[in-house]
Amino acid sequence: MAEERVAIVGAGLAGCLLAVLLGRRGVPVTVYERRPDPRVAGAERGRSINLAISARGLAALEQVGLRDEALKRALPMHGRMVHPLGGAVNFQPYSADGTRAINSIGRAELNAALLDTAEATPGVALRFAARITGADLEAGLLRTEGGGTEPAEVILAGDGAYSAVRASLDLDAGTDFLDHRYKELTVPPRDGDFALDPDALHIWPRGTAMMIALPNLDRSFTCTLFWPQDDFDALGTDAEIAAHFAERYPDVAGLMPDLADDYRRNPVGSLVTVRCRPWVRRGDGAIAALLGDAAHAIVPFFGQGANCAFEDCIEIDRCLAETGGDWARALAAYEERRKPNTDAIAEMALDNFIEMRDRVSSPVYRARQAVRHALERRLAGRYVSRYELVSFSTLPYAEIPARIRRQNAALGAAALGGAALLALGARAVRRRR
Ligand SMILES: Cc1cc2nc3c(=O)[nH]c(=O)nc-3n(C[C@H](O)[C@H](O)[C@H](O)COP(=O)(O)OP(=O)(O)OC[C@H]3O[C@@H](n4cnc5c(N)ncnc54)[C@H](O)[C@@H]3O)c2cc1C
Repeated sequence: MAEERVAIVGAGLAGCLLAVLLGRRGVPVTVYERRPDPRVAGAERGRSINLAISARGLAALEQVGLRDEALKRALPMHGRMVHPLGGAVNFQPYSADGTRAINSIGRAELNAALLDTAEATPGVALRFAARITGADLEAGLLRTEGGGTEPAEVILAGDGAYSAVRASLDLDAGTDFLDHRYKELTVPPRDGDFALDPDALHIWPRGTAMMIALPNLDRSFTCTLFWPQDDFDALGTDAEIAAHFAERYPDVAGLMPDLADDYRRNPVGSLVTVRCRPWVRRGDGAIAALLGDAAHAIVPFFGQGANCAFEDCIEIDRCLAETGGDWARALAAYEERRKPNTDAIAEMALDNFIEMRDRVSSPVYRARQAVRHALERRLAGRYVSRYELVSFSTLPYAEIPARIRRQNAALGAAALGGAALLALGARAVRRRR
C-alpha cells in the first residue's frame, strides 16, 4: 500500500464511513472536522434532525458492521401516509407486498456511531475544531483556518454541499438552488405515545408547498416544511402562523403546542443541487477528490443523499483494492463509475418533489400505484417500480431510468396508461378503502 499522507476533510456521514474503510484497509488517515466533537458539544442546529436510510445506506453500513446497530436506532416506515386537504388520510405502502420499509434515524446518532467506529479503528486520527479553508495541490497541503497548513498528498473532500476544498480547486462546479426552502418543526409525543402513526412517512401535499413528518425514537415527529420562500416570508406574527396551519394543515396544527415558537426560532435552510466536474484534481504535490454532498449534493425528496454518499465511500474503497492502492487510478475509476449514478439520482430526486407535493393526493396517482403494485405482484422481479429500485435495491441509479422504460415498453405503454388498467387500479383503491 502506498505511503502517502491521506487526509479526509469533514467528519460527517461520508467522511467518517470512508475513514473506517481506509483504516481497515491499513491506510492511515487524518480526518479534519470544523465542528467541535458533536458527541461532546451536541448536534448543530439547522441540519435535518432525522434521515431515511434505505437499502444502499444499509448495505454500506453492513461493510463496517454498523447495519444492525443503525437499525436498532431506527424506526421502519412501510409507506407514505398522505394527508390531503379536506380528504381522507390514506396509507400508500412503499412495496407491493407491504413488507419493505425505509428507516427513520437520527442524524446525530448515526454520525456518533460512525465517529465511535472511526475513533476505534487503528490508523484513524480525528481532529475536531479544525476548519480547512482550501487545498494546495502543488505544495501538497491543506490550509487551515488561522493561516496554518497540514501536509497531505491525498485529500478526500467530504466537507458537504458548500465544500471549501471544492471551492479552492479549479473545478467546473455549479450550485442550483431550489426556489423552495425548508424549516423543521416538532410534533411532541401525546400522552407519552406517538401523536401520529409511527410506521409511515407522513406527507401533507399542498400543491406548490408540502410538509412531511418522520418519527423519532423519543416518540416525537420531526416535521419539515418545504415551502417557496414567499410562503415563509408571508408569516410573521403568532396569529398568522397559527391561522395558516389551522387552515392548511388542520389535522396536525393542534398536535404542535410550540408551533409559533418553533416556527420563529428554527432556521430556514436551502435546498441545493451541486453539479461538478471533474471530481478529481491532481497537482505535483497532491491529488484531491470530492465525495458525498461535496461532489453531488441533491435535493432530499428521494431520501437518498446520505445513502448515495455512503455508496461513494464503498466505491472508493473498492477502486483502491482493485488498483492495489494506486490513488490516481483508483480515484479516476471512482469518478467514472459514480458520476453517471449521482447525475441520475439528482434528476430523480428533483422529479420526486413534484410527485410528493402534488401527485400523491390525486386519485389517478393512487390508481396508477395500485396498478404498479398489482403488476409487481404478478410479474415478480420483471416489473419493479422506480421507488423500489431506488430505495430497496442497490441497482446502480443510472440503470434505473432505462430499466423503467424497458419495463413500460414491454408491458405496452398504451396498456399501462390506458383506461382498462386505470379502471383496475381504481377498483383496487376502492377495495382497500
Ligand atoms: C432537509 C434534508 C433532509 C434530508 N433527508 C435525507 C434522507 O432522508 N435520506 C438521505 O439519505 N439523505 C437525506 N439528506 C441528505 C443528507 O443529509 C446528505 O446527503 C448527507 O448528509 C451527505 O453527507 P456528507 O458527509 O457528504 O456531508 P455532510 O453530512 O454535510 O458532512 C459534511 C461534514 O464536513 C464538515 N465540514 C464542512 N466544511 C468543513 C471545513 N471547511 N473543514 C472541515 N470540516 C468541514 C461539516 O461540519 C460536516 O461534519 C437530507 C438533507 C436535507 C437538507
